Amino acid sequence: MKSSPDTLKSIAKEINQCKKCLLYKDAVQAVPGEGNPHAEIVFIGEAPGFYEDQQGVPFVGRSGKLLDFCLEKIGLQRSDVWIGNVIKHRPPKNRDPLPQEISACKPFLDRQLKLIQPKFVVTLGRFAMEKFISGLYISRVHGQPRFITWESNKFFLFPMYHPAAALRNPHIKKDFQQDFKSLVNYLENPSKITSTTKIVNL
Ligand code: URA
Repeated sequence: MKSSPDTLKSIAKEINQCKKCLLYKDAVQAVPGEGNPHAEIVFIGEAPGFYEDQQGVPFVGRSGKLLDFCLEKIGLQRSDVWIGNVIKHRPPKNRDPLPQEISACKPFLDRQLKLIQPKFVVTLGRFAMEKFISGLYISRVHGQPRFITWESNKFFLFPMYHPAAALRNPHIKKDFQQDFKSLVNYLENPSKITSTTKIVNL
């Protein structure tokens, strides 16, 4: 029997019922992701925190407020972009996700990205960046777009610090806000990317 084609809604339904790892046991609910299904920009965080777990919506806590503030500054709203996470259930006490949790959750975000087909994927923090590219330090590559082919999708990967890191450290916050400004520049002039971007390969 042929299964029906994926939609963001059908994937969210699967995520809400997922028991592929044990995180669902301590979580209030899953956080599948939300936003414009045709977004040109997708933001990927690490995992839901306390408030996201309560509401089932990504980035609604303090980190989310900073994200909203920076989006607004560049003339965008949440409804213009799509926001999701590498991990769909909150890890207890916001601990780092474990490798087996990351691999259990991987197909969901893969399928979501295949449907959305964004032009820019903005990774927030190490775990999101490492989904696409390994061996790099955010401190060296943040704010530098690179065109990548990933699972037959092509897009600009734009690594950024996690907003929680920006909230903890004023220097990182400055970089975080500056990276938003660069992001909008690159969005408006993608041709600038190859000519002006220093790609740091480690
Ligand atoms: N931090 C994340 O990485 N994701 C969220 O949704 C909230 C906080």
